[in-house]
Amino acid sequence: MNLKAKRIHCAAKEATLAEIDKKHIIHPWSDLGSDARSMIIESGKGIHVFDNEGNQYIDSISGMWCVNLGYANEEMAEAIADQCIRLVYYTPFGAMASPPSIELAHQLSQLTPGDLNHFQFTTSGSTAVESAIRFVHYYFNCLDQPEKKHIIYRENAYHGSTYLSASLNGKKCDRSYFHYITDIVHAIPDPNPYKREPGMSVEDFCDLRVRELEEKILALGPDKAACFIAEPVMGSGGVIVPPPGYHKRTLDICRKYDVLYISDEVVTAFGRLGHHFASEDVFDIVPDIITVAKGISSGYQPLGAAIISEKLMNRISGASARQNSYYTNGFTYSGHPVACAAALKYLEIMDRDNINEHVREVGPYFMQRLAELKSFPIVGDVRGLCLMACVECVVSDDEDENIAVAQRVDEFCQEKGLIVRPYENLCILSPPLIIDKSGIDQIVDILRDSIIATMDEINKEAR
Ligand code: PLP
Repeated sequence: MNLKAKRIHCAAKEATLAEIDKKHIIHPWSDLGSDARSMIIESGKGIHVFDNEGNQYIDSISGMWCVNLGYANEEMAEAIADQCIRLVYYTPFGAMASPPSIELAHQLSQLTPGDLNHFQFTTSGSTAVESAIRFVHYYFNCLDQPEKKHIIYRENAYHGSTYLSASLNGKKCDRSYFHYITDIVHAIPDPNPYKREPGMSVEDFCDLRVRELEEKILALGPDKAACFIAEPVMGSGGVIVPPPGYHKRTLDICRKYDVLYISDEVVTAFGRLGHHFASEDVFDIVPDIITVAKGISSGYQPLGAAIISEKLMNRISGASARQNSYYTNGFTYSGHPVACAAALKYLEIMDRDNINEHVREVGPYFMQRLAELKSFPIVGDVRGLCLMACVECVVSDDEDENIAVAQRVDEFCQEKGLIVRPYENLCILSPPLIIDKSGIDQIVDILRDSIIATMDEINKEAR
């Protein structure tokens, strides 16, 4: 061991992992002014994770909407190890390829809706969204419509953390001291029926939201509006399930004005809603582009994809390709063989173990059990679909008070052995897809106990 390595080793021994983490790591979405230490998760098995102090938790967020098969799946680990030994990496640039990405594209093309059968593999959800938008711009440039650049997104949406994808995030708390693109991105209100005006029917609310999209396209001018991006169920923005017909009607509006429809299925694809893709199977739409990541490899490897329709590709490739129209978009790790091997194994396991059928069976039970929590006075809403859910804490009109209450619920959950995802005044839940009814009962029981403990504390303080 050389001297420097020795010193590093000693430092790691003297300080705790949490201290070293605090000193050296910049975490996504962290408070740079806080001196809070990270919780260090060291291992996992099935639906459980374990911290470095030996505490066990049910992971009701699947890491971050991704570890669909749960932890320590040996088949996944073996597939990854096998591919590392066979071929760990080779460049995907130009006319080079390796078998796992080809096999994955082939298998996915049989699962995707409609003619969505061209895959630009990426490394994450953000890069999938970024690539999709860059494709849209390239596409309209090739078609001599260079003005068609504007992107419509929704308030409370989450689409990623690269420059362009972050500029499409619609939650106020996601906007910080960073710089965002402003000239070509335009927000419209989200379709959260819970937030509709008092007295308004869900049908009228849906009409309003659809009309707002059309008005936005007309205000921009159809010759300038390039695409609309929407999550089938908005995840990080608060598990927002749109009113019936919303997606179909917004797609129709897009078609009317030649605006491309991007369905961001980074969370919803690959089983979370009980289907490989939610766009068609749950919401009856065939978009122009679908973006995926997370569950595609069950979180065992970083992988994403922008999936483009044959119709769009045909207009700009082959005999229709423009001269010198190099597609200068992609990454060193696009279609990484090991990540694609993980995705292939996940697809095999999904099929063999009937994961979608299982989710369609336990999902309604999850929602039905969670609905019991609505009776508590600090719970404003419980909503979701299948294995995507959220409990919204509401105690007053003051957002900060609501956030503080939700944080207490989360803290009690953690003490009692359950990890939920705190996001403002929301407790977001997305357990591994392998969860069974008894695991669901445990989640709901801990949540209920934590809500009661929070109410007791609030009542004590009020006395
Ligand atoms: N799109 C959606 C709908 C997401 O939920 C996320 C992440 O949560 C992203 C894109 C970005 O994915 P990533 O964090 O892998 O870049």
